[in-house]
Amino acid sequence: MIEIENVRKSFGPLEVLKGINLTVPKGEVLTIIGGSGSGKSTLLTCINGLEPIDSGRILVDGTEVHARSTNLNSLRQKIGIVFQQWNAFPHLTVQQNVMLAQQKVLKRSKAEAAAEAEKQLKHVGLGEKLDVYPTRLSGGQQQRMAIARALAMNPTYMLFDEVTSALDPQLVGEVLDTLRMLASEGMTMICVTHEMKFAREVSDRVAFFHKGVMAEIAPPEALFGAPKDPELQKFLAATH
Ligand code: ADP
Ligand code: MG
Repeated sequence: MIEIENVRKSFGPLEVLKGINLTVPKGEVLTIIGGSGSGKSTLLTCINGLEPIDSGRILVDGTEVHARSTNLNSLRQKIGIVFQQWNAFPHLTVQQNVMLAQQKVLKRSKAEAAAEAEKQLKHVGLGEKLDVYPTRLSGGQQQRMAIARALAMNPTYMLFDEVTSALDPQLVGEVLDTLRMLASEGMTMICVTHEMKFAREVSDRVAFFHKGVMAEIAPPEALFGAPKDPELQKFLAATH
């Protein structure tokens, strides 16, 4: 599980995370919603150690992410992260792009990496695109490639940061369907999203962030159906 204990983080004078407490058990699908600048992306980058924290602790399967003794490379293999956009290597095919980190980080042989890439690309519906160059893919296909690339590292946890935000509206559905599939398979996921319908359907719990505070966390029926926090009420009224 992922345990976040009283995590604080500032960028210069700006406190972006103001004491976040959150436990995500294995198998949970947690979505994070909230306005721009509320600290959602920062929390994800702190969870996989891309950003240091100022105080508090983050434990992944009991290992403290920001402890000096922690091997971040091996920890990060457990935690896949997919962003709004991922710039694939244009001179490598889709399959080669999905092989690269497996070979470099996991030291898999070329054959092993190729087989895993094929498996994960088929899984996200890109079985026909193995030998294509990434620039030939649609935005939705590129995001599914990015998801396959993360899955090929066989992570225990997946973090998704607004993976559909840069997409044309007609391409959003195919990527959300991929996330739904992973959720139904039992993947432990934290998804930052603006897609409220998706959040309502797929989440075990939804967390609302406001100005660096997790202002509310509840199962979707409660959070959307009977929001308590006034800022959440405003946020939901504005997104409908
Ligand atoms: P969200 O993902 O909820 O939109 P972020 O976590 O990206 O919010 O950002 C929270 C705040 O921290 C914003 O005000 C943002 O401008 C600021 N911020 C994020 N990253 C950095 C950085 N590397 N340096 C300085 N300020 C940052
Ligand atoms: Mg963000």
